[in-house]
Amino acid sequence: MVQTAKENSSPNLSFRGTGGDTLVFDIIRKELERQRHGIELIASENFTSLQVMQAMGNVMTNKYAEGYPGRRYYGGCEFVDEVEQLAIDRLKQVFNCEYANVQPHSGAQANASVMLAVLKPGDKILGLDLSMGGHLTHGSPVNFSGKLYEAHFYTVEKESGLVNYEELEQKARTEKPKMIVCGASAYSRDWDYARIRKVADEVGAFVMADIAHPAGLIAKGLLSSPFEHCHFVTSTTHKTLRGPRGGIIMMGKDFENPFGLKDPKGNVRMMSNLLDMAVFPGTQGGPLEHVIAAKAISFGEILSEDYTAYAKQIQANAQAMAKALVAKDYHLISGGTDNHLMLIDLRNKNITGKKAQETLDKAHITLNKNAVPYDDKSPFVTSGIRVGVPAITTRGMKEGHMQTVVDLLDKVLMNIDDAATVKNVSEEVKEFMRQFPLYPELG
Ligand SMILES: *Cc1c(COP(=O)(O)O)cnc(C)c1O
Repeated sequence: MVQTAKENSSPNLSFRGTGGDTLVFDIIRKELERQRHGIELIASENFTSLQVMQAMGNVMTNKYAEGYPGRRYYGGCEFVDEVEQLAIDRLKQVFNCEYANVQPHSGAQANASVMLAVLKPGDKILGLDLSMGGHLTHGSPVNFSGKLYEAHFYTVEKESGLVNYEELEQKARTEKPKMIVCGASAYSRDWDYARIRKVADEVGAFVMADIAHPAGLIAKGLLSSPFEHCHFVTSTTHKTLRGPRGGIIMMGKDFENPFGLKDPKGNVRMMSNLLDMAVFPGTQGGPLEHVIAAKAISFGEILSEDYTAYAKQIQANAQAMAKALVAKDYHLISGGTDNHLMLIDLRNKNITGKKAQETLDKAHITLNKNAVPYDDKSPFVTSGIRVGVPAITTRGMKEGHMQTVVDLLDKVLMNIDDAATVKNVSEEVKEFMRQFPLYPELG
């Protein structure tokens, strides 16, 4: 949607606020400038459209709406009902699925809700090991998922860096988990959902696909779809999907409850009812209807041709970046990427992930240190870094710019103890980024 000049000059968008708390608004302004002049390579980050941000600062934050559209515990819900139903309908269209819940406050909340809906404390779950690219909510001992459930893990193969499906199958058969979780935070390859479903059916497990990272590419058919094979699909809305910070839960098909799971009143229900109840009242109170309004806008954007082009450009940029990195002898786990991110093992460069992240930060190149599979260093130090292209693709970069980004990154890493060079690169980065304006309407 095209913004009019009038809207763009509204106080709500100046980021200076109208209430006089200049202390906070000045800090927000500094964050805007930081985002503007840096190269953002954090694979989980992105820049929403202006209208998505606009929707997040609106009067719906004032509204309590416990329940679901048409079934609320408070009066005055006719407009939040309208916006939430629109978000649900658009999301179903985005993924061509039968069920969608747009209320989870975050990706972690979405996963917690699905687990609460179908598992009992002490049940077994099987997920990808955190140190191999998995996520905290897939059974880590420091997370609810590892404290409430008995977590078992599969890994990636040391040589290929690919998910070890044989091990996954073997652990599924010996442990007989109630749920197998697939999806990851630092895995650059596609998933074989059909193969996972096959063993799940054999042992009587649910399959949950957490597509928090690659959701945007899946939405556009650029990666295989989990919907026909996995019982539940969860995602964040703020990574490749480029919406506001939040979570979602979906099912390709709203199926009859196969194991006769009961709701708290002892009734066997459709899976959609169990999921809705697990979000509210199970794990959350009032939904963030202002954020749901922003989700509705971003789902509308995803349905557009522009977003299709964007998703394709992400994949093209990731390919170009991988090629440029490999040409400079950077070791990519699994040798490349199918999606929007790559994991780089820096051991052949004799640099730790921590040192790389901290030094690149000084050059305004932002990324995160990341454990590589079978890492010999602690999670605070790590041997690797994770890089992703969704944010720089939103900035307008194309394949040809990936070489420049890699050159700048490499210059820092090859001169990691040379403060003067790092400083020079920071100036080069700022200069380079001037050709990709970010939120010019904000002045
Ligand atoms: C980012 C991520 C999450 C968590 O999302 P939050 O919104 O930060 O809670 C869950 N699962 C995976 C695989 C993720 O990458």
